[in-house]
Amino acid sequence: MAVAFRNVTKVFPDGTVALDGFNLDFETGEFVVLLGPSGSGKTTACRILAGLEPATSGRIEVGGRDITDLPPRERGMSMVFQNYALYAHKSVYDNIAYPLRVRGVPKQRIEGRVRDTARLLQIDELMGRRPGQLSGGQAQRVAVARALVWQPEICLMDEPLSNLDAILRLQTRTELKRLHAELKTTFVFVTHDQEEAMTLGNRIAVLKDGRLVQFDTPREIYHRPASRFVAEFIGRPAMNIIEGSVAGGVFRAEGLDLAVPDRSDGTAALGIRPEHILLHRSPRDGMQPFHLDVKELVEPDILLFLSSGPLSLVVRSKADLANLDDGAEVYLELPRDRLHFFDAETGLRRP
Ligand code: ATP
Repeated sequence: MAVAFRNVTKVFPDGTVALDGFNLDFETGEFVVLLGPSGSGKTTACRILAGLEPATSGRIEVGGRDITDLPPRERGMSMVFQNYALYAHKSVYDNIAYPLRVRGVPKQRIEGRVRDTARLLQIDELMGRRPGQLSGGQAQRVAVARALVWQPEICLMDEPLSNLDAILRLQTRTELKRLHAELKTTFVFVTHDQEEAMTLGNRIAVLKDGRLVQFDTPREIYHRPASRFVAEFIGRPAMNIIEGSVAGGVFRAEGLDLAVPDRSDGTAALGIRPEHILLHRSPRDGMQPFHLDVKELVEPDILLFLSSGPLSLVVRSKADLANLDDGAEVYLELPRDRLHFFDAETGLRRP
């Protein structure tokens, strides 16, 4: 069953345009991640989908049915908020049981469902505690349990891991993936952390300025970014971008002449990921020498910050380069099948 945003625009009363003709289609059962910089409209999209915020224009559809005006209660969706929003005066048990009670589930069935869900999230020992007596990670699990206990069709999660420390974040990520595989509930997960998005989503929707700029698998987003923005947003260190121009099958920038077959002439931005540049100690055809400015160890790899005149590039290598000293001369090979070209004006990927 398809879930769709159709040309959704959201203008807040102060004139802020949070979503600007936003379109997105996905299938139930997917793990969809909404990724984008702060202020790109991710939370707003989530809240509109859940019915917590009205759209200014456009429609939300589920299975072809227009649910734009349906109250949140009737949408079959639950939401996990960044601050968890647990009821402070209720026990963990009562927090988890709450959505079942308000839906009129018979008492004898509530207990079983709460216990099953708590077991799934490994919080069955905490049932008698109040939210104030929980660690951040435990509170997060309780919030997820409360969102899943009534078996909603879609579970929306707005940056649910951002209050957790790094190790717990990693663990919880893995658990969310496991939960998704087990429950087959549709997950819509908001984050501005590209690494989190890449590991969690089976598809990632990248937002910028209230618009969808790419919706694809993590692999496609990484290897075929639709624009320079996506290319630079995904991957650390960021993709190298060299501005120059193509003429007669050669890309030229200061310090670089590169044969690039089948390219139309004109200004362009060339991109290559740090791990795709090959290093050589002896001269290569057409490439000027680069000098090593700084090297950083990010075990098991090494990052080399190189420059040649005005051109600076980062290379990520697996080679043992411990004996390469600052100032050393190296030659680079930019494999053709690893190059990306973006329109100099629009930033869009050139075929
Ligand atoms: P973040 O990662 O920082 O949470 P986001 O991508 O989730 O950002 P939104 O919270 O959806 O972005 O906000 C999108 C834009 O709408 C921002 O410019 C934000 O300041 C604005 N905005 C959000 N809520 C309101 C509001 N109630 N009134 C006015 N502007 C708002």
